[in-house]
Amino acid sequence: MNTTGTGEPIVIVGAGIAGMTAAFRLQQAGHPVRILEAEDRAGGRMRTVERRGYHMDLAAILLIENYTQMLNLVRDLGIEDTTLRTNNVVGIRRDGRVHHVRANKPTDLKSSGLLPWSSVPAMRRLQSDLNKFGSRLRWDSDMGEAASLDTETAAAYAERRLDKDFRDYVVDPMSAMFFNSPPDLSVVNFLFSMPAVNSEWFNFHDRVDTLTTALAARLPVETGAEVTLVEETSDGVRVHWSRAGEPDHVEEAAAAVVALPGPIAARLCPGMAPASRTYLENVPYVPDIHVYFGVDNKPSETATCVLFPTREHPDLGVITFNHNFAPGRAPQGHGLLTSYYRYPWAIRHWDSDDDKVVELTHEVHRQAWPELARHIEAHQDMAYVQRWKNAVILRKPGDYARLREFSRGLDPRSRIQLAGDYLAFSATNSSLVTGERAAVRVREVVTAGSVSVGRG
Ligand SMILES: Cc1cc2nc3c(=O)[nH]c(=O)nc-3n(C[C@H](O)[C@H](O)[C@H](O)COP(=O)(O)OP(=O)(O)OC[C@H]3O[C@@H](n4cnc5c(N)ncnc54)[C@H](O)[C@@H]3O)c2cc1C
Repeated sequence: MNTTGTGEPIVIVGAGIAGMTAAFRLQQAGHPVRILEAEDRAGGRMRTVERRGYHMDLAAILLIENYTQMLNLVRDLGIEDTTLRTNNVVGIRRDGRVHHVRANKPTDLKSSGLLPWSSVPAMRRLQSDLNKFGSRLRWDSDMGEAASLDTETAAAYAERRLDKDFRDYVVDPMSAMFFNSPPDLSVVNFLFSMPAVNSEWFNFHDRVDTLTTALAARLPVETGAEVTLVEETSDGVRVHWSRAGEPDHVEEAAAAVVALPGPIAARLCPGMAPASRTYLENVPYVPDIHVYFGVDNKPSETATCVLFPTREHPDLGVITFNHNFAPGRAPQGHGLLTSYYRYPWAIRHWDSDDDKVVELTHEVHRQAWPELARHIEAHQDMAYVQRWKNAVILRKPGDYARLREFSRGLDPRSRIQLAGDYLAFSATNSSLVTGERAAVRVREVVTAGSVSVGRG
């Protein structure tokens, strides 16, 4: 069934989780779709590569069971059997020791010895704030309701409501999961991530991009197609794209969903209102550099990841033990570890070549965790450096209010609708939700358009 009335497809720009979810939902509703993707593979920041039998999830790695919309998508794709509930033990390093906390058992913060008895009242205050504000911190929200909470940094909140131990050994290392530090980060990110992480976790057997691969298999994705311009015409959109060695391509479409990081979307959509474009150009992404190490002997650590408070190391944020996250990440008996930095390190070392980054990372391991450094150096059989220029968004206080203004300023009747992580909390599930939302709006626009075409 073609409900656009024109026979033209709806073009989706960007085959990340946001774009492909939009396309899938539109296709389910009977609209012809076509996806244009610049890279030679779909998936964006939910993608996995394989080297020497190691499956490296290049960006997203942690999925939680309160990703309701993602689980619905998994069900609608019929791939439930590719998922499993996984280990959710997080390690936090304090005074050279790893304290183990099950993500859905906040009381482990105390029983593991990470926090002292004196922090119990702070834990209660945090729980009470989460109960009070929880309804404003939802995955399916556009974060508009969270804007009213967005008045201070995570550090200031920790000092005002919690205590020093909580600030240094919970709030600070949690912010490292977003490559940030509490002095920068909005309290909303901390409050949002507490109940989010405080859940059972799930994942896909073998590789996290099982989801994006399943989507791509059901959708017409044109890879190697770098879109350069998306413009609205009187009755549709015109999309310009290029591929090396070919003349420039121009396609007409009924409408478009532009599902790209904000600054790229700004460049491609010059027809947007100036205030909206300025917002998009300045979405505050931070870069990330992280390094994978394959080892031929699995280390004894049982946590999925170990977080490093700034007091333990100023630059290293997290080491993940990918083989503990879910099966299939490393060959039998081997381990796969990944070291993530806080973003200022990535900025400082952006121009260093991969060999240098690996060498620096060994040195950082020696400073932060000497026994593990020795294990990695003795057993390393693979190292791989991954960089993301637009990794995640560093939300400072006031950013969610600006996001709310931006979202309110967008034209719901435009034939160009936006999707992507910058429209919500910067993670896979919220990106997916922005894709679903864009699909609904685009359907309304093309349906109204086909009625008016009929009338004309
Ligand atoms: C290191 C890292 C770790 C993360 N960890 C987690 C995690 O554990 N859990 C979690 O839930 N989230 C995590 N995230 C966040 C999550 O990966 C992203 O929020 C989400 O995948 C973004 O999806 P998206 O579709 O909005 O954007 P993207 O995945 O970036 O998709 C955009 C697509 O557009 C394409 N594109 C760009 N320019 C053009 C163009 N001109 N023409 C055509 N195509 C173009 C890109 O190649 C890309 O495929 C992490 C992110 C990073 C970087």
